[in-house]
Amino acid sequence: MNRSAGRSALVVGAGIGGLAAAAALFRTGWQVTVLERAPELGEVGAGISIWPRAWGILADLGVAERLADGARPALQAGLRRPDGRWLAKASAGAATRAPVMVHRAQLHEALVASLGEAEIRTGTTAEKVRSGGRGAVVETTDGTRLEADLVIAADGIRSSVRKALHQRDDVRYAGYTAYRGITAEPVPGEGSTSGGETWGAGVRFGHLPLVDGRTYWFATANRPPGETSEDHHGDVSALVGDWHEPIPQLLAATPASAVIRGDICDLRLPLRRFDHGRVVLLGDAAHATTPNLGQGACAAIEDAAVLTARLADQLDIESALAAYDRRRRPATLGLVGASRLVGVLGQIDNAAAVAARDTGLAGVGAIAGLLVGR
Ligand SMILES: Cc1cc2nc3c(=O)[nH]c(=O)nc-3n(C[C@H](O)[C@H](O)[C@H](O)COP(=O)(O)OP(=O)(O)OC[C@H]3O[C@@H](n4cnc5c(N)ncnc54)[C@H](O)[C@@H]3O)c2cc1C
Repeated sequence: MNRSAGRSALVVGAGIGGLAAAAALFRTGWQVTVLERAPELGEVGAGISIWPRAWGILADLGVAERLADGARPALQAGLRRPDGRWLAKASAGAATRAPVMVHRAQLHEALVASLGEAEIRTGTTAEKVRSGGRGAVVETTDGTRLEADLVIAADGIRSSVRKALHQRDDVRYAGYTAYRGITAEPVPGEGSTSGGETWGAGVRFGHLPLVDGRTYWFATANRPPGETSEDHHGDVSALVGDWHEPIPQLLAATPASAVIRGDICDLRLPLRRFDHGRVVLLGDAAHATTPNLGQGACAAIEDAAVLTARLADQLDIESALAAYDRRRRPATLGLVGASRLVGVLGQIDNAAAVAARDTGLAGVGAIAGLLVGR
Protein backbone atom coordinates (compact mmCIF):
# COMPACT_ATOMS: atom_id res chain seq x y z
CA MET A 1 0.00 0.00 0.00
CA ASN A 2 1.34 3.44 -0.88
CA ARG A 3 0.95 5.47 2.31
CA SER A 4 2.47 8.55 0.70
CA ALA A 5 0.03 9.30 -2.10
CA GLY A 6 -1.70 12.62 -1.62
CA ARG A 7 0.41 13.68 1.34
CA SER A 8 2.11 17.05 1.20
CA ALA A 9 5.47 18.33 2.40
CA LEU A 10 7.06 21.75 2.58
CA VAL A 11 10.84 21.69 2.43
CA VAL A 12 12.63 24.77 3.76
CA GLY A 13 15.94 25.15 1.90
CA ALA A 14 17.03 24.07 -1.57
CA GLY A 15 20.53 22.93 -0.65
CA ILE A 16 21.71 19.39 -1.32
CA GLY A 17 19.81 18.06 1.72
CA GLY A 18 16.51 19.77 0.98
CA LEU A 19 16.61 18.82 -2.69
CA ALA A 20 17.50 15.20 -1.93
CA ALA A 21 14.55 15.00 0.48
CA ALA A 22 12.23 16.66 -2.03
CA ALA A 23 13.35 14.28 -4.80
CA ALA A 24 12.96 11.19 -2.61
CA LEU A 25 9.52 12.17 -1.33
CA PHE A 26 8.31 13.23 -4.77
CA ARG A 27 9.22 9.82 -6.16
CA THR A 28 7.07 8.12 -3.53
CA GLY A 29 4.00 10.18 -4.34
CA TRP A 30 4.25 13.16 -2.01
CA GLN A 31 3.27 16.62 -3.19
CA VAL A 32 6.38 18.65 -2.47
CA THR A 33 7.01 22.39 -2.36
CA VAL A 34 10.55 23.64 -1.72
CA LEU A 35 11.04 27.14 -0.30
CA GLU A 36 14.41 28.77 -0.96
CA ARG A 37 15.31 32.23 0.26
CA ALA A 38 17.96 32.86 -2.41
CA PRO A 39 16.61 34.57 -5.52
CA GLU A 40 18.24 31.90 -7.69
CA LEU A 41 19.11 28.25 -7.23
CA GLY A 42 22.76 27.27 -7.14
CA GLU A 43 25.81 26.01 -5.29
CA VAL A 44 29.34 27.30 -4.76
CA GLY A 45 32.11 26.48 -7.22
CA ALA A 46 33.88 23.62 -5.51
CA GLY A 47 34.09 19.85 -5.59
CA ILE A 48 32.24 17.46 -3.34
CA SER A 49 32.96 13.86 -2.42
CA ILE A 50 30.05 11.46 -2.65
CA TRP A 51 30.76 8.28 -0.72
CA PRO A 52 29.37 4.93 -1.88
CA ARG A 53 26.25 4.82 0.35
CA ALA A 54 25.13 8.29 -0.69
CA TRP A 55 26.05 7.54 -4.31
CA GLY A 56 23.77 4.49 -4.17
CA ILE A 57 20.91 6.70 -2.96
CA LEU A 58 21.58 9.18 -5.76
CA ALA A 59 21.55 6.26 -8.20
CA ASP A 60 18.11 5.20 -6.92
CA LEU A 61 16.90 8.78 -7.40
CA GLY A 62 18.17 8.85 -10.99
CA VAL A 63 20.63 11.59 -10.04
CA ALA A 64 23.91 9.67 -10.25
CA GLU A 65 23.44 8.85 -13.93
CA ARG A 66 23.28 12.58 -14.67
CA LEU A 67 26.69 13.06 -13.03
CA ALA A 68 28.91 10.18 -14.10
CA ASP A 69 28.79 7.02 -16.12
CA GLY A 70 29.20 4.93 -13.00
CA ALA A 71 32.90 4.24 -13.50
CA ARG A 72 34.79 5.30 -10.41
CA PRO A 73 38.46 6.19 -10.79
CA ALA A 74 40.81 3.79 -9.00
CA LEU A 75 42.06 6.59 -6.82
CA GLN A 76 45.50 6.37 -5.28
CA ALA A 77 45.66 8.46 -2.16
CA GLY A 78 47.35 8.97 1.15
CA LEU A 79 48.84 11.42 3.57
CA ARG A 80 52.11 13.29 3.04
CA ARG A 81 54.35 15.86 4.69
CA PRO A 82 54.99 19.18 2.96
CA ASP A 83 58.34 17.87 1.62
CA GLY A 84 56.43 15.04 -0.11
CA ARG A 85 57.45 12.18 2.18
CA TRP A 86 54.56 9.76 2.72
CA LEU A 87 53.16 9.40 6.20
CA ALA A 88 50.61 6.82 5.09
CA LYS A 89 49.34 5.41 1.83
CA ALA A 90 45.79 4.22 1.37
CA SER A 91 45.50 0.51 0.75
CA ALA A 92 44.45 -0.84 -2.63
CA GLY A 93 41.13 -1.82 -1.02
CA ALA A 94 40.51 1.78 0.03
CA ALA A 95 40.85 2.89 -3.59
CA THR A 96 37.85 0.78 -4.59
CA ARG A 97 35.78 2.32 -1.77
CA ALA A 98 36.75 5.83 -2.84
CA PRO A 99 34.08 8.48 -3.27
CA VAL A 100 32.93 9.93 -6.56
CA MET A 101 34.15 13.53 -6.81
CA VAL A 102 31.75 15.85 -8.59
CA HIS A 103 31.30 19.58 -9.00
CA ARG A 104 28.79 20.92 -6.47
CA ALA A 105 26.91 22.93 -9.05
CA GLN A 106 26.50 19.82 -11.21
CA LEU A 107 25.17 17.81 -8.25
CA HIS A 108 22.77 20.62 -7.40
CA GLU A 109 21.53 20.87 -11.00
CA ALA A 110 21.09 17.10 -11.22
CA LEU A 111 19.00 17.11 -8.02
CA VAL A 112 16.83 19.94 -9.35
CA ALA A 113 16.37 18.06 -12.62
CA SER A 114 15.19 14.99 -10.68
CA LEU A 115 12.40 16.92 -8.95
CA GLY A 116 9.87 16.43 -11.71
CA GLU A 117 6.79 18.50 -11.01
CA ALA A 118 7.70 19.33 -7.43
CA GLU A 119 7.51 23.08 -7.01
CA ILE A 120 10.48 25.25 -6.03
CA ARG A 121 9.77 28.79 -4.87
CA THR A 122 12.93 30.88 -4.89
CA GLY A 123 13.14 34.25 -3.15
CA THR A 124 10.91 32.81 -0.42
CA THR A 125 12.13 32.95 3.18
CA ALA A 126 10.48 30.88 5.88
CA GLU A 127 10.07 33.09 8.93
CA LYS A 128 8.02 30.96 11.32
CA VAL A 129 7.55 27.21 11.29
CA ARG A 130 5.26 25.32 13.65
CA SER A 131 3.70 21.94 14.09
CA GLY A 132 0.06 21.91 14.97
CA GLY A 133 -3.03 19.77 14.78
CA ARG A 134 -2.84 17.44 11.82
CA GLY A 135 -0.07 19.21 9.98
CA ALA A 136 2.51 21.98 10.03
CA VAL A 137 2.59 25.60 8.98
CA VAL A 138 5.23 27.86 7.44
CA GLU A 139 4.84 31.62 7.44
CA THR A 140 7.10 33.42 5.01
CA THR A 141 8.56 36.92 5.35
CA ASP A 142 6.15 38.22 2.70
CA GLY A 143 3.21 37.22 4.90
CA THR A 144 2.22 34.03 3.04
CA ARG A 145 0.92 31.15 5.18
CA LEU A 146 1.51 27.64 3.83
CA GLU A 147 0.22 24.39 5.31
CA ALA A 148 1.27 20.80 4.72
CA ASP A 149 1.26 17.40 6.40
CA LEU A 150 4.96 17.76 7.12
CA VAL A 151 7.68 20.44 7.16
CA ILE A 152 11.30 19.46 6.56
CA ALA A 153 13.71 22.10 7.83
CA ALA A 154 16.79 21.76 5.61
CA ASP A 155 17.85 25.37 6.11
CA GLY A 156 21.52 24.76 6.74
CA ILE A 157 23.98 25.19 9.59
CA ARG A 158 22.50 28.53 10.67
CA SER A 159 18.97 27.10 10.58
CA SER A 160 16.47 29.56 12.01
CA VAL A 161 14.02 26.67 12.46
CA ARG A 162 16.51 24.81 14.69
CA LYS A 163 17.23 27.96 16.68
CA ALA A 164 13.53 28.53 17.29
CA LEU A 165 12.90 24.90 18.27
CA HIS A 166 15.92 24.49 20.52
CA GLN A 167 16.19 28.04 21.82
CA ARG A 168 19.97 28.14 21.51
CA ASP A 169 22.66 28.95 19.00
CA ASP A 170 24.70 25.80 18.44
CA VAL A 171 27.17 26.99 15.80
CA ARG A 172 30.82 26.91 16.84
CA TYR A 173 33.92 27.97 14.92
CA ALA A 174 36.46 25.17 14.53
CA GLY A 175 39.47 27.54 14.58
CA TYR A 176 40.43 27.30 10.91
CA THR A 177 39.39 28.65 7.56
CA ALA A 178 39.20 26.70 4.29
CA TYR A 179 40.10 27.73 0.76
CA ARG A 180 38.72 25.73 -2.15
CA GLY A 181 39.61 25.80 -5.85
CA ILE A 182 39.17 23.89 -9.10
CA THR A 183 41.70 23.83 -11.93
CA ALA A 184 40.51 25.30 -15.21
CA GLU A 185 41.51 22.18 -17.14
CA PRO A 186 42.66 18.65 -16.36
CA VAL A 187 46.23 18.78 -15.08
CA PRO A 188 48.53 16.13 -16.57
CA GLY A 189 50.09 13.54 -14.27
CA GLU A 190 49.49 13.13 -10.58
CA GLY A 191 47.22 16.18 -10.33
CA SER A 192 44.39 14.49 -12.18
CA THR A 193 45.01 10.81 -11.46
CA SER A 194 45.57 10.71 -7.72
CA GLY A 195 44.42 12.37 -4.56
CA GLY A 196 45.38 12.81 -0.98
CA GLU A 197 46.31 15.22 1.73
CA THR A 198 49.44 16.93 2.97
CA TRP A 199 49.64 18.02 6.58
CA GLY A 200 52.00 20.74 7.75
CA ALA A 201 51.99 22.87 10.90
CA GLY A 202 48.48 24.35 11.21
CA VAL A 203 48.02 24.10 7.44
CA ARG A 204 46.65 21.29 5.27
CA PHE A 205 46.26 20.82 1.53
CA GLY A 206 44.23 18.14 -0.26
CA HIS A 207 43.39 17.40 -3.87
CA LEU A 208 41.09 15.01 -5.69
CA PRO A 209 40.20 14.48 -9.35
CA LEU A 210 36.65 15.37 -10.38
CA VAL A 211 34.79 12.97 -12.67
CA ASP A 212 35.19 15.52 -15.49
CA GLY A 213 39.00 15.34 -15.28
CA ARG A 214 39.65 18.66 -13.55
CA THR A 215 41.12 18.69 -10.05
CA TYR A 216 39.41 19.98 -6.93
CA TRP A 217 41.67 21.10 -4.10
CA PHE A 218 41.33 22.63 -0.67
CA ALA A 219 43.63 24.20 1.90
CA THR A 220 42.99 24.92 5.57
CA ALA A 221 44.77 27.32 7.90
CA ASN A 222 44.36 28.35 11.55
CA ARG A 223 42.89 31.85 11.54
CA PRO A 224 40.78 34.11 13.76
CA PRO A 225 37.05 33.83 12.99
CA GLY A 226 35.58 36.20 10.41
CA GLU A 227 38.93 37.29 8.97
CA THR A 228 38.61 38.47 5.38
CA SER A 229 41.14 38.72 2.60
CA GLU A 230 41.19 40.07 -0.95
CA ASP A 231 43.47 37.61 -2.68
CA HIS A 232 42.56 34.03 -1.77
CA HIS A 233 44.79 32.52 -4.42
CA GLY A 234 47.71 34.58 -3.09
CA ASP A 235 46.93 33.46 0.48
CA VAL A 236 47.07 29.78 -0.52
CA SER A 237 50.24 30.27 -2.56
CA ALA A 238 51.87 31.88 0.48
CA LEU A 239 50.80 28.93 2.66
CA VAL A 240 51.64 25.95 0.44
CA GLY A 241 53.20 27.27 -2.78
CA ASP A 242 56.58 25.70 -1.91
CA TRP A 243 55.15 22.30 -0.88
CA HIS A 244 55.68 19.16 -2.94
CA GLU A 245 54.29 18.63 -6.45
CA PRO A 246 51.58 18.56 -7.70
CA ILE A 247 50.57 21.36 -5.28
CA PRO A 248 52.39 24.24 -7.08
CA GLN A 249 51.21 22.79 -10.41
CA LEU A 250 47.58 22.74 -9.24
CA LEU A 251 47.76 26.30 -7.95
CA ALA A 252 49.26 27.48 -11.24
CA ALA A 253 46.40 25.77 -13.11
CA THR A 254 43.70 27.47 -10.99
CA PRO A 255 42.43 30.94 -11.93
CA ALA A 256 42.37 33.39 -9.00
CA SER A 257 38.62 33.87 -9.51
CA ALA A 258 38.04 30.13 -8.90
CA VAL A 259 39.27 30.21 -5.30
CA ILE A 260 36.72 30.63 -2.50
CA ARG A 261 37.15 30.91 1.26
CA GLY A 262 34.96 30.12 4.26
CA ASP A 263 35.44 29.64 7.98
CA ILE A 264 34.83 26.08 9.18
CA CYS A 265 32.09 25.58 11.75
CA ASP A 266 30.05 22.70 13.11
CA LEU A 267 27.24 22.25 15.59
CA ARG A 268 27.66 21.84 19.29
CA LEU A 269 25.82 18.57 19.69
CA PRO A 270 23.86 16.66 20.59
CA LEU A 271 20.48 18.09 19.81
CA ARG A 272 17.80 16.57 21.98
CA ARG A 273 15.91 15.45 18.91
CA PHE A 274 15.52 16.02 15.17
CA ASP A 275 11.71 15.57 15.15
CA HIS A 276 9.26 18.06 16.59
CA GLY A 277 5.70 16.92 15.93
CA ARG A 278 5.22 17.39 12.19
CA VAL A 279 8.46 19.39 11.77
CA VAL A 280 11.78 17.62 11.23
CA LEU A 281 15.38 18.79 10.91
CA LEU A 282 17.55 17.40 8.10
CA GLY A 283 21.10 17.89 6.80
CA ASP A 284 23.30 20.64 8.20
CA ALA A 285 20.33 22.10 10.07
CA ALA A 286 20.38 18.94 12.22
CA HIS A 287 24.03 17.91 12.32
CA ALA A 288 26.46 20.24 10.50
CA THR A 289 29.95 18.78 10.68
CA THR A 290 33.41 20.06 9.87
CA PRO A 291 34.39 18.83 6.38
CA ASN A 292 37.37 16.74 7.51
CA LEU A 293 35.78 13.45 6.50
CA GLY A 294 33.97 14.93 3.47
CA GLN A 295 30.62 13.50 4.49
CA GLY A 296 28.27 16.31 5.51
CA ALA A 297 26.26 16.34 2.29
CA CYS A 298 26.40 12.54 2.13
CA ALA A 299 24.82 12.46 5.58
CA ALA A 300 22.08 14.82 4.37
CA ILE A 301 21.42 12.52 1.41
CA GLU A 302 21.23 9.55 3.79
CA ASP A 303 18.83 11.53 6.01
CA ALA A 304 16.58 12.02 2.99
CA ALA A 305 16.57 8.31 2.18
CA VAL A 306 15.91 7.20 5.77
CA LEU A 307 13.17 9.80 6.26
CA THR A 308 11.42 8.75 3.06
CA ALA A 309 11.67 5.06 3.97
CA ARG A 310 10.26 5.60 7.49
CA LEU A 311 7.38 7.65 6.06
CA ALA A 312 6.64 4.86 3.61
CA ASP A 313 6.70 2.27 6.45
CA GLN A 314 4.40 4.04 8.88
CA LEU A 315 0.94 5.50 8.53
CA ASP A 316 1.47 7.85 11.43
CA ILE A 317 3.76 10.72 10.38
CA GLU A 318 4.91 11.60 13.92
CA SER A 319 5.94 7.96 14.52
CA ALA A 320 7.84 7.94 11.23
CA LEU A 321 9.70 11.13 12.19
CA ALA A 322 10.53 9.68 15.60
CA ALA A 323 11.91 6.54 13.91
CA TYR A 324 14.03 8.75 11.60
CA ASP A 325 15.36 10.58 14.66
CA ARG A 326 16.28 7.32 16.41
CA ARG A 327 18.27 6.17 13.40
CA ARG A 328 19.93 9.37 12.19
CA ARG A 329 20.78 11.22 15.42
CA PRO A 330 23.27 8.64 16.77
CA ALA A 331 24.80 8.06 13.33
CA THR A 332 25.47 11.73 12.69
CA LEU A 333 26.65 12.38 16.24
CA GLY A 334 29.54 9.94 15.62
CA LEU A 335 30.36 11.62 12.32
CA VAL A 336 30.50 15.13 13.79
CA GLY A 337 32.76 13.98 16.64
CA ALA A 338 35.16 11.99 14.43
CA SER A 339 35.42 14.80 11.90
CA ARG A 340 36.15 17.37 14.58
CA LEU A 341 38.92 15.15 15.97
CA VAL A 342 40.58 14.80 12.55
CA GLY A 343 40.47 18.60 12.28
CA VAL A 344 42.10 19.05 15.68
CA LEU A 345 44.94 16.67 14.70
CA GLY A 346 45.34 18.18 11.25
CA GLN A 347 45.53 21.75 12.51
CA ILE A 348 48.18 21.19 15.21
CA ASP A 349 50.70 23.98 14.73
CA ASN A 350 53.27 23.48 17.48
CA ALA A 351 56.49 22.03 15.97
CA ALA A 352 57.08 19.39 18.66
CA ALA A 353 53.44 18.31 18.60
CA VAL A 354 53.50 18.16 14.78
CA ALA A 355 56.55 15.85 14.92
CA ALA A 356 54.84 13.60 17.46
CA ARG A 357 51.63 13.56 15.39
CA ASP A 358 53.49 12.68 12.20
CA THR A 359 55.35 9.84 13.90
CA GLY A 360 52.06 8.52 15.20
CA LEU A 361 50.34 8.85 11.82
CA ALA A 362 53.16 7.10 10.02
CA GLY A 363 52.44 4.14 12.28
CA VAL A 364 48.74 4.24 11.68
CA GLY A 365 48.48 3.90 7.93
CA ALA A 366 44.81 3.11 8.22
CA ILE A 367 43.94 6.76 8.77
CA ALA A 368 44.76 7.38 5.12
CA GLY A 369 41.77 5.22 4.30
CA LEU A 370 39.60 7.69 6.19
CA LEU A 371 41.10 10.62 4.38
CA VAL A 372 41.12 9.21 0.91
CA GLY A 373 38.23 11.26 -0.36
CA ARG A 374 38.01 14.48 1.58
C1 LIG B 1 34.78 23.42 2.96
C2 LIG B 1 33.68 22.37 2.91
C3 LIG B 1 33.87 21.22 2.18
C4 LIG B 1 32.89 20.21 2.20
N1 LIG B 1 33.09 19.08 1.47
C5 LIG B 1 32.16 18.09 1.50
C6 LIG B 1 32.37 16.90 0.74
O1 LIG B 1 33.36 16.75 0.03
N2 LIG B 1 31.41 15.92 0.83
C7 LIG B 1 30.28 16.06 1.59
O2 LIG B 1 29.46 15.14 1.64
N3 LIG B 1 30.06 17.21 2.30
C8 LIG B 1 30.96 18.20 2.26
N4 LIG B 1 30.73 19.37 2.94
C9 LIG B 1 29.48 19.52 3.72
C10 LIG B 1 28.33 19.94 2.80
O3 LIG B 1 28.69 21.08 2.06
C11 LIG B 1 27.10 20.24 3.64
O4 LIG B 1 26.90 19.23 4.59
C12 LIG B 1 25.86 20.32 2.74
O5 LIG B 1 26.04 21.25 1.71
C13 LIG B 1 24.65 20.68 3.60
O6 LIG B 1 23.51 20.76 2.78
P1 LIG B 1 22.14 21.31 3.40
O7 LIG B 1 21.17 21.21 2.27
O8 LIG B 1 21.84 20.61 4.67
O9 LIG B 1 22.42 22.82 3.80
P2 LIG B 1 22.79 24.06 2.88
O10 LIG B 1 23.59 23.66 1.71
O11 LIG B 1 23.36 25.09 3.79
O12 LIG B 1 21.39 24.57 2.32
C14 LIG B 1 20.48 25.29 3.10
C15 LIG B 1 19.59 26.09 2.16
O13 LIG B 1 18.54 26.67 2.92
C16 LIG B 1 18.33 28.00 2.48
N5 LIG B 1 17.70 28.70 3.60
C17 LIG B 1 18.24 29.03 4.79
N6 LIG B 1 17.35 29.62 5.59
C18 LIG B 1 16.17 29.67 4.89
C19 LIG B 1 14.88 30.15 5.16
N7 LIG B 1 14.59 30.69 6.36
N8 LIG B 1 13.92 30.05 4.21
C20 LIG B 1 14.20 29.50 3.00
N9 LIG B 1 15.43 29.02 2.67
C21 LIG B 1 16.39 29.09 3.60
C22 LIG B 1 19.72 28.48 2.14
O14 LIG B 1 19.69 29.60 1.27
C23 LIG B 1 20.31 27.24 1.49
O15 LIG B 1 20.05 27.19 0.10
C24 LIG B 1 31.69 20.39 2.94
C25 LIG B 1 31.50 21.57 3.66
C26 LIG B 1 32.47 22.56 3.64
C27 LIG B 1 32.23 23.82 4.42
